[in-house]
Amino acid sequence: MFLFQSPPPTRFDLNFSLFEIPVRVHPMFWFLAALLGFGSGQVLIWVFVVFFSILIHEMGHALAFRRYGQDSHIVLHFAGGLTIPESLRWGGGYASVSLSANQQIFISLAGPFAGFVLAGLVVGGVIFSGGEIAVNLLFGIIPIPQLTFLPFGNNAVQVLIVMLLWVNVFWGLINLLPVFPLDGGQVARNFLIQLDPLDGARKSLWLSTITGGVVAVAAFVLLGSFYMAFLFGLLAFQSYQALSGRF
Ligand SMILES: [Zn+2]
Repeated sequence: MFLFQSPPPTRFDLNFSLFEIPVRVHPMFWFLAALLGFGSGQVLIWVFVVFFSILIHEMGHALAFRRYGQDSHIVLHFAGGLTIPESLRWGGGYASVSLSANQQIFISLAGPFAGFVLAGLVVGGVIFSGGEIAVNLLFGIIPIPQLTFLPFGNNAVQVLIVMLLWVNVFWGLINLLPVFPLDGGQVARNFLIQLDPLDGARKSLWLSTITGGVVAVAAFVLLGSFYMAFLFGLLAFQSYQALSGRF
């Protein structure tokens, strides 16, 4: 997922490497992650879950890039993440990298699916240790695994598991919506361009505009989430602007 361009380095950046992939964490990442979890009463656990989950998501993209011979680095900032291939210094999508449409689709899907694998491991761990997981259907269609019984650990461990499942499943599914610049938007573009090389990019922008608008209204009416409504409204507007600007 990348929502913004990579910010310039600061002296408060946290730098490390994971599987030889350089990772940089901008100080605003911690601030905005804490802000999103403020009021939950478990801000520290929340910030850890957001950090770990977004890192796993971006590692999915980075390892998929490596599969196609592309080195990359990861930047976490503004409660989101970027995986930037070294052949593309300034962000703006994977399109300028010499990868086929299907390779780009694989790379886009690898992020959300890394999160689903993590959620699967958590579910497996809970069941293996004698706990119980129920599957709730959000709006009757979106399956969200939910912890119902844990035979070990204290309240903090339970909160950790509940948050890990929610973030990796719910955000992963949201991220697959065909809205730019979410991963699903990249998948839709690469899919539609193959079906219709002349008009596929424009169709994917229309799909992004309409889906973003519908999700914004649904988030406000059904979830009561002003944050999500604002975010998807903004993304729909950006796609609409791209339509009128480029075509
Ligand atoms: Zn992603």
